[in-house]
Amino acid sequence: MKGTPKEHKLYNPKMECMSREELRELQSKRLRETVKIEYENVALYRARMDARGVKPEDIKTVDDLRLLPFTQKTDLRDEFPFGLIAAPKSEIVRIQGSSGTTGKPIVVGYTQNDVDVWAEMVARAITAAGGGKDDIIHIAYGYGLFTGGLGAHQGAAKVGAMVVPMSSGNTPRQIMMMKELGATMLCCTPSYATFLGETIREMGIKPEEMRLKSGCFGAEPWSEEMRANLEELLGIDACDIYGLVEIGGPGVAFECLEKHGMHVSEDNVIVEIIDPVTEEPLPYGESGELVFTTIMKTGMPMLRYRTHDICSLDASPCKCGRTHVRMERITGRTDDMIIIRGVNVFPSQIESVLVGMDGVSPHYMLIVDRVNSTDKLGVQVELTNEMFSDTVAEIEKLRDGIKEKIKSVVGISVKVQLVPPKSIPRSEGKAKRVIDNRNI
Ligand code: ADP
Ligand code: ZN
Repeated sequence: MKGTPKEHKLYNPKMECMSREELRELQSKRLRETVKIEYENVALYRARMDARGVKPEDIKTVDDLRLLPFTQKTDLRDEFPFGLIAAPKSEIVRIQGSSGTTGKPIVVGYTQNDVDVWAEMVARAITAAGGGKDDIIHIAYGYGLFTGGLGAHQGAAKVGAMVVPMSSGNTPRQIMMMKELGATMLCCTPSYATFLGETIREMGIKPEEMRLKSGCFGAEPWSEEMRANLEELLGIDACDIYGLVEIGGPGVAFECLEKHGMHVSEDNVIVEIIDPVTEEPLPYGESGELVFTTIMKTGMPMLRYRTHDICSLDASPCKCGRTHVRMERITGRTDDMIIIRGVNVFPSQIESVLVGMDGVSPHYMLIVDRVNSTDKLGVQVELTNEMFSDTVAEIEKLRDGIKEKIKSVVGISVKVQLVPPKSIPRSEGKAKRVIDNRNI
């Protein structure tokens, strides 16, 4: 919680605190090995490298990364299900898939080595959020092809904690189990954690009656305001965790208790930020699209995988002692960005205005319509119970206030609609924040 002194624990100090020079050498060595595996075993990489006139021997250090071709989600769809697998199929011990937020699902094959590397990344994340052997870790991410549940599970098991594999759904039962078993850590999406926190309050349970102290929350974009709200609701430290099935599930990057950006697991992946239009790499500090190259995966390694996630990198030292660069919060995905009358809008910008505002709950929905060839953005926001019973004049004042604040942050006028408490659907996994009726 805010104000309490931070004790930084490390799962693998040798890897997590390695000097930048040593890390670079390790990355270069692992990159050379990965490129060789890809070229020899995956037709798509061989064809793309040949087309560029690049041979595996040309890749000597991390600096040569830019010679390599990019990959993206459509490649996984085109090569579905096993076209990008680099290991003998008998070595694949696990199939995981994307949660299908955008388009048709994809699948990724993991070798035992890949599962072990992934489990360690999550173990590091849990440790960084203050967890360890003595913790009781309640996992409310969905289990299945989606990497959230099993990913958090493997990491929690690796640190030796007592794992409660609840999966998602049945909120009252989740809360009863958390309370009775005395869960000390919670892992789920931030939107579901918020819903759990609100339900705990409604059930008349005080945060002190629970033993929760921290949690790893990710799989969807969330704002700093949402963090403050969640920490207050549950009385915990809420750390961000990031990952994607193509690169190795949650744990690819995670926050330490300093909570100012997620350390990228740089001994396992090489991270770049590129300009999404020119595809040119951008320096640290500049915002652009995240691109990952895996350097420890053997089942389905990925070279320069374009995530469509937008953020920037920070290489300044962190008080926790980790030397790995930090990625700032994901502003959104390029797929989630709505363009309204030429202005780029991310749901997270609207969220930053709404969360923490008196009179409204942190639940919202953006509705995009096209009226007479003009795009209109509507924002539905839920009133709190107290505000709902307030006077019409007060509610109108609140609505105008929200409209003005959104205009000042995003730069466009929106239609704000205040809706009754609980009328916006709650999500047990990744929250849906946008309804686009434009059919474009
Ligand atoms: P998808 O959602 O594309 O079906 P995944 O389940 O593998 O596939 O989810 C990966 C995506 O989830 C990331 O590319 C990113 O957009 C989002 N994501 C994961 N963790 C975070 C996080 N901590 N903050 C913001 N976005 C996240
Ligand atoms: Zn740190």
